[in-house]
Amino acid sequence: MKAQHYVGGVFRSDGPAFPLIDPVDGSELGTVPEATREVVDDAVTAAGAALKGPWGTMGAEERAAVLRRIADGIQARFEEFVAAEVADTGRPRAFAETVDVPRAAGNFRAYADLLYGRPERAYTTQIPGWSSGAGQALNYTVRRPLGVVAIISPWNLPLLLSTWKIAPALACGNAVVLKPSEETPSTATVLAQVINEAGLPEGVFNLVHGHGAGAVGEFLTGHEGVDAIAFTGESATGAAIMRNAADHVTPVSFELGGKNPALVFADADLDAAVDGTVRSSFTHSGQICLCTERIYVERSVFDEFVEKLAARVKALDGYGPMISAEHRDKVLSYYRLAKEEGATIVAGGGAPTFNDERDGGFYVEPTVLTGLPETARTVREEIFGPVCHIAPFDTEDEALALANNSPYGLASTVWTTNLSRAHRVAPKIETGIVWVNCWNLRDLRTPFGGVKASGIGREGGEYSLDFFSEPVNVCIQI
Ligand code: NAD
Repeated sequence: MKAQHYVGGVFRSDGPAFPLIDPVDGSELGTVPEATREVVDDAVTAAGAALKGPWGTMGAEERAAVLRRIADGIQARFEEFVAAEVADTGRPRAFAETVDVPRAAGNFRAYADLLYGRPERAYTTQIPGWSSGAGQALNYTVRRPLGVVAIISPWNLPLLLSTWKIAPALACGNAVVLKPSEETPSTATVLAQVINEAGLPEGVFNLVHGHGAGAVGEFLTGHEGVDAIAFTGESATGAAIMRNAADHVTPVSFELGGKNPALVFADADLDAAVDGTVRSSFTHSGQICLCTERIYVERSVFDEFVEKLAARVKALDGYGPMISAEHRDKVLSYYRLAKEEGATIVAGGGAPTFNDERDGGFYVEPTVLTGLPETARTVREEIFGPVCHIAPFDTEDEALALANNSPYGLASTVWTTNLSRAHRVAPKIETGIVWVNCWNLRDLRTPFGGVKASGIGREGGEYSLDFFSEPVNVCIQI
């Protein structure tokens, strides 16, 4: 797969090339063109011009039809998308086949349905009303697109997370400039080909490749032609983008980092909690923003939980690598830090040896830690790898205080069979999502996002339509 920019309906490869590295064995997969400021300008200009073309007047039904054709196009090139996502990320094939690619097609279908099926919500709402003192008036609300939307996505779920924003942005009638992560450019390029074939007017969707800081990401987020920014990535990057966007008061929707807690009460089904934690901490080698890195277990079942989880984690195999050498080094630096901070390593703690080509890749061992104080950096900072720390608690109040003692607030998991406790505890956890006796069970219509340093705003279902469109009040005196 050759990564290319897609600007104003034309594929191009200008800009200096940088290498794309296979995380499985460290070999070079190909090269990626780094968009210059000129390429970014062209993309933003093309997007702005497209809003004045047929896209600007296209009805909701026609827009929904285009979204459906994009979904069909993804389905038709399913294998190509799977191969590209597996090559860039090194993830197990099954993950791309069951999560990444079906969810990408699903994102376009869901917003086509929402747009076509609910025009009154997505497009206009009419409220007959009364304006005091000035006689009778009719007030109604028109939902207008924001304009040119810059979408900046991370490497961990490249296709899924970019389409999660592209689909609602297009549904609302915006034009898009996508900058995928420099680590994972390939599925975005196939998506541009699908969109090109789906008959979206030129310039409505644009793709520019390259790096973030001091490069494409910064050119885009500080661009005066960009009307809104939808970003998924690290909290520190979100802060940098906000500073850059401040000059033009550009609105942002942010899905950021996490240090997600799980609470395991003594009344939980312990085997289910262990099963669930193996998934919640180690799926995609912990490289999902929703993964659990802090686990708090009621003291009476603490030892049993640790023992059972450690046994399962030691037996894990077939896991994927970290995305890059740099990220592998970051995760291993936290494994070393944990030891320095006084952790007990219950499982893992280093880099594995396979005696095959994977030894050139970027693997780390799934790791379970105990014994650290809450002040330890290992317990406070997002590591974004296959690692969790387990600590005991004695009371429900203490468990809640521990869960909430974090600058982050993305997702949490509560394991209990006590219904009252579940309802009592869940609303008090300071995270945008609370799962009870499950993890990552997602209904795409529900609000998704974080509190505190984990994000700004909500996406999902109609919540995304709220961000990607602007309600405008029209008041007519009768
Ligand atoms: P990152 O912040 O390093 O990069 C994300 C994107 O931002 C990339 O495309 C990058 O090139 C770009 N970027 C970097 N610096 C920039 C700058 N100064 N200006 C503009 N763009 C810039 O994140 P990552 O390492 O790719 O992804 C992992 C992070 O994403 C983790 O923190 C994870 O928790 C978070 N994440 C959050 C969610 C969520 O829904 N809340 C989902 C997935 C990942």
